[in-house]
Amino acid sequence: MKLFSRTLATAGLAALAGLGAISVAAQAQAQAQDYPTRAITMIVPFAAGGPTDVIARIVTGHMAQTLGQSIIIENVVGAGGTTATTRAARAANDGYTLITGHMGTHAASVPLYPKLAYHPEKDFEPVALLAGTPILILARKDFAPKDLKEFITYVKANTAKLNAAHAGIGSVSHVSCELLNSVLDIKPTGVPFNGTGPAMNALVGGQVDYMCDQIVNAVPQINGGTIKSYAIATPERNPSLPDLPTTAEAGLPAFQAQAWNAIFAPKGTSPAIVAKLNAAAVKALDDENVRKRLLELGSVIPKPAERTPEALAALVKSEIAKWTPVLKQASN
Ligand code: ASP
Repeated sequence: MKLFSRTLATAGLAALAGLGAISVAAQAQAQAQDYPTRAITMIVPFAAGGPTDVIARIVTGHMAQTLGQSIIIENVVGAGGTTATTRAARAANDGYTLITGHMGTHAASVPLYPKLAYHPEKDFEPVALLAGTPILILARKDFAPKDLKEFITYVKANTAKLNAAHAGIGSVSHVSCELLNSVLDIKPTGVPFNGTGPAMNALVGGQVDYMCDQIVNAVPQINGGTIKSYAIATPERNPSLPDLPTTAEAGLPAFQAQAWNAIFAPKGTSPAIVAKLNAAAVKALDDENVRKRLLELGSVIPKPAERTPEALAALVKSEIAKWTPVLKQASN
């Protein structure tokens, strides 16, 4: 009898636990259905006005209309974007804190920070790729070399007195110039900023010599004649800067670099919320005005097959695998 009642009690508890699990699942489903019921915070891991910030603002401006809630950009700077990314990894996984990460925060930082407090693959749910961003070799307006060939000769002869601006260790501007410097076998002094927005101001002001930056940050300055541009590090020229030669055309085919920016949510964010966010991002990328603004700045808009969370997960994996040996070799 005793055994029977104990079994019954255990069964009862199991049933209650089962009901509990069902109600938690039902609650999560209901939350996902109503989502979003309040403003969403989008962390941008660099200063306002830089490429990641600009892309995030263009796309989330449209996503907010689709989702019916505002998306507030919060610029959290430091450590090449890894401070902000750590914060995003530890945020509540309820869909109300997201991050616009990039090739630096979600790939290149892995080999560069042995004590990185997050892992791009294990601590995030990929949401959507927003834009590919070719890398340009840029310099202050009065930098002596006229073209890329002269640039190569000049920087090799003057490496000890050169200053190269970047957005912190592991940022796109840092790792792409590491690659350039390793191809050219030069070691300039790196000057870190909280983003390439402020780094660009220093380049325009002539306080630093050169920089490798994402096209989005450079088109207005190049067109305004406030900086020099030597080449674009992609196989093709970019329609937003049709006169700018590729590195291959200009004599440095070994330097190829294109970055990317994408939305991530903390690990464990419900698949239904991720799907809603992805659909809103995809809708933004199909919007005529969003496309126009992204294309004017030289971004490469992802093709439909590249816009899924699965495609972004695969990109992160392949980029970590690609950058790890390159950066280990470049920093030797
Ligand atoms: N994303 C840029 C970089 O990694 C910085 C920025 O957006 O300001 O260099």
